Amino acid sequence: MRQARTTAIEHGTSRGFDAHATRGEEPCAGCKQAHTIRSTAARIRRESQDTVRVQAAGLGELLIDCGEEVCHKFGEFFGHEIVAACMDRAAAKAWAEKRSA
Ligand SMILES: [Zn+2]
Repeated sequence: MRQARTTAIEHGTSRGFDAHATRGEEPCAGCKQAHTIRSTAARIRRESQDTVRVQAAGLGELLIDCGEEVCHKFGEFFGHEIVAACMDRAAAKAWAEKRSA
């Protein structure tokens, strides 16, 4: 028996994705996501992908955590209205999660 079949798959990693492929299995969701992330990073590094999409609420959470100076820099680049809207979405998401908890 090959070692790949006896070794436990480290799920949620790109190595796990490769292990699923070696076994001829459909990768689990975590391994698929890790593979997608690895592939996207590779395209960015070899300059065949120039943009990334992010969730507005997720970006808003990051900006809230980064503080006013970073928010201002992002605002100059993307537009202050867009930064404020992302932060509003993050606040609304946090409020909804708090209500449902
Ligand atoms: Zn997996």
